[in-house]
Amino acid sequence: MKLNTDKQSDWVARSLKSVWHPCTQMQHHETVPLIPVSHGRGAWLYDKDGRRYLDAISSWWVNLFGHANPRINAALRDQLDRLEHAMLAGFTHEPVITLSEQLAARTGHRLGHCFYASDGASAVEIALKMSFHTWRNNGQSGKQEFVCLKGGYHGETVGALAVTDVALFRDAYGPMLRQAHVVATPDARGARDGETAADVARRAAAELETLLRDRGDRIAAVIVEPLVQCAAGMAMHDPSYLAEVRTLCDRYQVHLIADEIAVGCGRTGTFFACEQGGIWPDFLCLSKGISGGYLPLSLVMTTDAIFNAFYDPEVARGFLHSHSYTGNPLACRAALATLAIFDEDDVINANRGRAARLSAALAPLAAHHAVANFRQRGMIWAFDAVLDEAAAANFSRRFFAAALDHELLLRPIGRTVYLMPPYILDEQEIEGLAARTLTVFEQVTGN
Ligand SMILES: *Cc1c(COP(=O)(O)O)cnc(C)c1O
Repeated sequence: MKLNTDKQSDWVARSLKSVWHPCTQMQHHETVPLIPVSHGRGAWLYDKDGRRYLDAISSWWVNLFGHANPRINAALRDQLDRLEHAMLAGFTHEPVITLSEQLAARTGHRLGHCFYASDGASAVEIALKMSFHTWRNNGQSGKQEFVCLKGGYHGETVGALAVTDVALFRDAYGPMLRQAHVVATPDARGARDGETAADVARRAAAELETLLRDRGDRIAAVIVEPLVQCAAGMAMHDPSYLAEVRTLCDRYQVHLIADEIAVGCGRTGTFFACEQGGIWPDFLCLSKGISGGYLPLSLVMTTDAIFNAFYDPEVARGFLHSHSYTGNPLACRAALATLAIFDEDDVINANRGRAARLSAALAPLAAHHAVANFRQRGMIWAFDAVLDEAAAANFSRRFFAAALDHELLLRPIGRTVYLMPPYILDEQEIEGLAARTLTVFEQVTGN
C-alpha cells in the first residue's frame, strides 16, 4: 500500500479522532503533544517531520536491542517465507519448540514447561488460573485466594487487575474484581532510621508470614515483581526478599508466581531477576522484552510438579486455556533472534559496563538537591523529584513534553523519573541522555 502523503501531514488530528490511545485521558492531548512516528533506527524514533527522540524508556519497557534491529529483521524475513502462523493445539512448529527448550535451559530446566499467550496480562491470568487449578486437581480446592504486594502491578485485564494495587488503574473497576490480599512492599525507600534494605525486606516478609500462617490453607499463590516494582514507580528492593518469600511459600504450601514481564530478559542485570535472589518460582511470567520489542508474545514457565498435576486421561483436568495467536511463529522467531543476541554479544556482561558508564554520567543528577532516592538496578535508573506544590502539578506530563523538546522520550511515573534504555547505547548516547535528562529536570522543576 502506498501511503497518501497529503493525509500523512494530518496524522495527529486523524489519530485523535479515530484512535483511542492507551492509558490516556484523551482530552489531555489538547495540550500534550502526540508524536507521529514514521520510523525507528537503533535507540532512536523519528517523527514524520524528521525530529528524533532517544527512546530512553524502550517504548514501554519492551525494546532491548533497538528499533529495526538488522538481526531480528533478518530472522523475521526468513520466518515470513516459512510459516506466519499455525494453531498450537494439535500442531507444533520449530520456533516454539526451540524457544521453549532455550528458555527452560536458562532455568537449568527447573521451569521446563512453557505455556504461551500474547500479552503480559494474559500471562498473569494464566499463572493465576494454573495455580488455582493445580490445587483443585490435587484435592485442595479450598485454596482459592491470592496475595500481592502493595503497589504491585500485574496488568489491566480483570483477573490481573485483581492482584494489582495501583489505585488509579483499579478504583473505577473495584466492584468487578475479586480482591486479593495486599501485603507490605519491601520497597527499600520504606527504611526506618538505621534500617538497611535487607531489614525492610525482612519486615515485609514477616507481614506476609502472618497472613500465610493464618490463611495459608485458603491461599493458592503469592505474586511478586522480583527486585523492581516498575509501575509503582521503580520501587526497588533487596534480593534477600525473594529468598524469604520462597521459604515462606514452601513452609505454608503456597505457590510463588514471579512476574518478570518487565524485569526479565536482562533488565535487572541477570537474565531472570529471580537469579539474584537465588531462587526459582513455581511460575515465571515473561513478556515485553522477550520478543525484542517486536511482536506481542508472553509465556508462563512452570515446573514438572505443576505440569504433572494436569497430566491425566480426563479432559477437564487439563489446562483448557488458549488464545488465537498462542505461540505465534513470527513472535517466537523474534524471541529466538533476541536470545541469540544475548549470547553472541555477551549482553549481560556488556550491560555491566554500560550501566557503570550511565551511572557515572548521571552523578550530577544523583547529587542534585531536588533529587531524592536516586537508585539503580541493572539497566533501570530512577529518582524522585522533590517538588513544591506548584512544581508538582502535572509534573509527569510537563516533563514528557519538555523531554521531547530535548530529543528524549521519557515519561515519569508521578514524581519518579526513570531511565530504562535499550541495551545498545553508545558512549555519545549515554553522555547525551544523562546531560539532557539533567537539563530537562532543571527546566521543569525550576531549579
Ligand atoms: C507491563 C506489565 C504487565 C502487563 O503486560 P501487558 O503486555 O501490558 O498486558 C504485567 N506485569 C508487569 C510487571 C508489567 O510490567
